[in-house]
Formats: sequence, structure tokens, C-alpha cells
Amino acid sequence: MGVTHYDVIIIGGGVVGTAILRTLSRFQLKTALLEKSVEVGWGTTKANSGIVHSGFHSEPGSWKTKLSVAGNRMFDQLCDELDVPYERNGMMMVARNEEEEDILAHYHEQGLENGVEGLEMLSGDETRRLEPNLASDIIAALRAPSGGIVAPFELATAQAENAVANGAEVHTGVTVTDIAHTGSSFAVTTADGASWIATYIVNSAGLYADDLARICGVDAEPIIPRKGEEYLFDQRLGRVIKHTIFPVPTPKSKGILVIPTAEGNLMIGPTALELPYKNDVSTTAEGLEEIFSFTQGLVPGLNRRDIIASFAGVRSGSPTGDFIFETSHGGKGIHLMGIESPGLTAAPAIAELVRDMLEDAGLSLKAKPDFNPRRPRVIRFKELSDDEKEQVIQDNPLYAHVVCRCETITEGEIVDAIRRGAKTVDGVKFRTRAGMGRCQGGFCTPHVVKILARELGVSPLEITKRGHDSQLLVAEAKAFLQGGEPND
Ligand SMILES: Cc1cc2nc3c(=O)[nH]c(=O)nc-3n(C[C@H](O)[C@H](O)[C@H](O)COP(=O)(O)OP(=O)(O)OC[C@H]3O[C@@H](n4cnc5c(N)ncnc54)[C@H](O)[C@@H]3O)c2cc1C
Repeated sequence: MGVTHYDVIIIGGGVVGTAILRTLSRFQLKTALLEKSVEVGWGTTKANSGIVHSGFHSEPGSWKTKLSVAGNRMFDQLCDELDVPYERNGMMMVARNEEEEDILAHYHEQGLENGVEGLEMLSGDETRRLEPNLASDIIAALRAPSGGIVAPFELATAQAENAVANGAEVHTGVTVTDIAHTGSSFAVTTADGASWIATYIVNSAGLYADDLARICGVDAEPIIPRKGEEYLFDQRLGRVIKHTIFPVPTPKSKGILVIPTAEGNLMIGPTALELPYKNDVSTTAEGLEEIFSFTQGLVPGLNRRDIIASFAGVRSGSPTGDFIFETSHGGKGIHLMGIESPGLTAAPAIAELVRDMLEDAGLSLKAKPDFNPRRPRVIRFKELSDDEKEQVIQDNPLYAHVVCRCETITEGEIVDAIRRGAKTVDGVKFRTRAGMGRCQGGFCTPHVVKILARELGVSPLEITKRGHDSQLLVAEAKAFLQGGEPND
């Protein structure tokens, strides 16, 4: 059998790579995405604050500004088409003294220049009327109603799923190790020894994009890994804050925030720590202390005992401070580097920019007449009315069986997630929230393993937490899983 010749190969299945894949799936092209993890979305995309920025933070004229303001405007339609949790909850940058108030005025002006809609300056009282749980020493706020929150992992998986439904290919568990250009095409080599041929390549490999760009002859400055720890509160706490609350920024980051998540939790973070390595996602006692003491100053009612989970993500810190779009091979190789915050917000607009760059380099874009922008709706059982629940259970009794008690996630939802591409316990967890509640999977993990093994037709011993060598079970546990009933 001959080797497939792709029009475009995208390397990296984060929110950016999958956005590009979906955008290209609108056209009559043969496209493939290569992702080294077992599933898409497990890089920086899995571990961030989930904020759809309004665009007042970055400097006028920068890529960050142009693409985040444009990206922000695309989110309503994008998340509606893909059925991804998303809400325009608004952002507030708050000031506690006159010096900070002057900084707010600067960001107000910058936001206006950047084209951010609906910006308004509020007094301390006006701020607390909208957010009664904020600290009493807050004297002013800059409010941006266009700010939003989204479930970032779900966005990446939904983009990939929709692209595949429209004819694109996603190959996971394949690490690109070499890229060569011979004649008029690229030969992309993966760690398993396979060779993938394409006329165009898009390097969207996040933290590792600089390494791949250098292989293609780009004189890429090293990406600066910058870790951010985040801490998640129990959903029982509810929405003590509606807007995403920002302090005035620090030289290194947008500061430590109080963030309502699209899934209904409250989150605090992130830290910003430059590191020599790209893969340190540990959380630390110092990180928790720094974040908790700072955010308690913003929202005094926060209680450390309500924190149920922590995680860290690593930003692809840009050596120029802005997103970097380099090309190689006469524009046929496109390299995305330094896609740090607000890269999630900018992702849909980055995808359109890359589409245009490919067209400029000679790629012919003929619209696919039968492109379907919609992903089949996800049944989120907990959110249904009683009548809807009854109907869903009648259609599929697996929805009557609650597997994750903390988050009320049913077997029907878990099976649906597996049929849409989840292969691991974390894949199920991030798609459905099974294991994200107070007990952090203490109860439901064995049952999720059992369902995964059944649906994938493999032994429970082969089911991993997040692929590679993250096996969960030893032989003795298999006996329990073969005998025990879920909800025992
Ligand atoms: C703590 C934190 C908070 C943030 N908060 C926000 C926010 O609120 N709003 C916002 O807009 N942005 C935010 N960001 C930034 C945002 O998360 C990123 O800009 C975005 O996720 C980048 O997506 P990506 O697809 O470029 O990278 P990634 O998600 O890292 O994807 C790159 C992919 O490439 C794969 N890959 C790497 N090398 C290879 C290889 N050799 N072969 C095959 N595959 C490979 C990786 O496995 C990975 O899946 C935050 C970031 C952090 C760390």
C-alpha cells in the first residue's frame, strides 16, 4: 500500500492545532493532525484558567491583541456549534489604591484602542453592587462584559471531533521526531518509524514548537517555560463571584485571579514561575500559600478547606513577548511559537490566520459543500429537567445509572465520551467531569476503568490514567472489576 500524501499535516493537538484542523476541514483537502499524547488537549490546553479574554491586557497592534479580540468575538458561535460549556460572565480588574486606579485608567484606554466593546469604569460601591463578596477596600474596577469562560479541554476535543466528522484525520500517540523537505513535499517522521508525507505542515507543538521549527531551519529563539499553579474549589460553594476578578498585572503575568469556571466551580490562580524545564506540572505548598493569601485579599470569604483539587500548566513563554508566526520552505512550513496567554482566546482567530497563510503559500481552498459545523449534542444529565431525564433514560437506560456521585455523571455519559474518543480515565474525566468532584475519583475510578475496558474491548489492566506508563491496576484488582457491580 502506498504512503498517503496529505495536503496539510498539523503537528500538535492542543486547542490551537485542533482549531486549525477544524478550520481546514471546511475545504476539500486531505488533512491530518499528529499528537504525541494518547488524546488531544493534554498539553497546556488541559491546564489553564479557561478565560476568554476581552483583549484590554495586551498592547495595541500586537498579535496577542489582534487575535484575542477577534477570537473573543468568535466564541459564541463556535461554542454553540460544538456544544462546549461557555459563558460570557465578564471580567473585572480591581484597584485597591490610587496608584492602582491609575493603572486601571491605562488599561481602560488601551482596551478602547484595542476595540474592546462595553468597557466601563466602576466605583468601589458600584463594583460591590455587582460583586457583593469582593473585599471592602476595593475602590474601583475596570469592567469588560465581553470577557468569558470556556471549558478548554472540551473545546479542543470538540474541534477535533467535528473536524474528523468532516473528513480530517487525527492520529494520537505519535511523536514527531524529524521533518525533512524533499522536492515539493515534507516527510514527517514519527517515533514509531513511520513517515508522513504532506505538501504543507503547520507546527503547533506548543512548548516544543521551537525544537521542531529549528529542525526546519528556522532560527527560533528558545521558548521560555512558565509554570502556573491553579486551585479548584468544591462546586458546593457555588458562584460566590460571577465575573472573573483580576488584580492589576505584574511584569510577568496578568496576576493571580479568582475565576468562575465554565463547569460551575470557582478556581484561584495562577502563579507564574519561569523554569528550565517544559514538563514540570507539580503543585507546591508555596504556590498554594501565595495564591490563597493573595486571593483571600480579593474575596475574603474564601476558605482553604473548600479546595478540592490542584493542577499546574506550563505556558509557552514567548521570547518576544508576542505570539510568533514563522515560516519555512517558501511559506509551506508554518511555525507557531510563544502561544502563551491569551492563546486559548485567540485560537479560533489563529486558525483563520494560518488558513490565510497557507492560501498565500499556494494552498487551494475549495469549500466543501457538505461541511457540517455542528457536533452532535452532548447529554449532560445533571443539567436536564426531570421530564428530559425521564426521556433520556427511556431512550438509553445507561443514563439511569449514576457512576460519579459527586458530580452526578451517568454511565450513559461515560460511554458517549468513549465513543467520541476518550481512551483513558483522564480522557473520561475531562470530557464528562467523572472524578472531578469532592472525592476526586475515589469512588468512581474503578467503575470508569471497568466501563472503559468493556467499551474498548481490552483488559482493565491495559486501561491507563493518561496513557503511556500510567497503568492503574495490578492483577488482583482485575478480579474485583470482573466480579463487582458499579454502584456496589
Ligand atoms: C496556567 C495557565 C493559565 C492560562 N490561562 C489562559 C486563559 O485563561 N486564557 C487564555 O486565553 N489562555 C490562557 N493560557 C494560555 C493557553 O492555555 C495556551 O495559549 C493554549 O493552551 C496553547 O495551546 P496550544 O495548542 O498552542 O498548545 P498545547 O495545548 O500545549 O498543544 C500543543 C500540543 O503539541 C503536542 N506536541 C508537542 N510536541 C509534539 C511532537 N513532537 N509530536 C507530536 N505532538 C507534539 C503536545 O503534546 C500538545 O498536545 C494559560 C496558560 C497557562 C499555563
